[in-house]
Amino acid sequence: MEAKIRESIAGGKKLGIMGGTFDPIHYGHMVAAETARIEFGLDRVLFIPTGSPPHKENRLITDASLRYEMVEMAIQNNKNFMVSRMEIDREGPTYTVDTLRILHSIFPEQELQFITGTDALKEMLTWREHEEVIKLARIIGVSRPGYDSKNLIEKISRMYPFTKNRIAQIEIPALAISSTDIRMRVANNKPIRYLLPDEIRLFIKNKGLYH
Ligand code: NAP
Repeated sequence: MEAKIRESIAGGKKLGIMGGTFDPIHYGHMVAAETARIEFGLDRVLFIPTGSPPHKENRLITDASLRYEMVEMAIQNNKNFMVSRMEIDREGPTYTVDTLRILHSIFPEQELQFITGTDALKEMLTWREHEEVIKLARIIGVSRPGYDSKNLIEKISRMYPFTKNRIAQIEIPALAISSTDIRMRVANNKPIRYLLPDEIRLFIKNKGLYH
């Protein structure tokens, strides 16, 4: 992990880890991270763009360095947000359990809270060493308005009683924005202004992404 990030995270008690592909990052992600930070009293939120997601081998994903650059631009004005290359610099498929093990070994005294889309968590019981994932981190699922995740959380806590109170869910109205929709809009020459920071809109345009 990058030395600068290590330094700024050290000394905290609760670390939020915002995992996602971020192809591209948008205001929904940013509002979700900030809401989770405040609601769960997190000292910092570390964005970790995925490297090579094991569940997406069939979809063409934007180069990891470009996705990283977009996250970097999006969070630059929030001193509580940071972004790490730790997954994108790792060889092979990126498994959340490996990331959490590394973070736990660097910050053994901190409580890890893994934040991601509830849609992504639906598949969580198929993730490599998912039981360990839930042991290593509390899980915060962020969902779009109207998304019913009660069943999912109940199912997980029935299967694994120890997960009780380790999985939380928050509804984020701004998550009506989605990366898939933004990519489709660009491909269809539709506007994406105000769905994400303007700097990123221009970056997408200049790099010719999503066409
Ligand atoms: P995804 O399948 O691309 O996303 C599913 C849904 O969740 C989409 O609606 C997506 O919206 C939303 N979402 C994803 N990340 C989000 C975030 N941080 N905040 C709010 N919404 C989010 O999921 P993904 O991005 O590839 O994976 C999410 C995380 O789960 C990553 O950290 C990934 O490494 C981890 N994961 C691990 C395993 C494993 O260990 N085997 C398997 C799958 C996923 P947008 O498209 O708008 O973002």
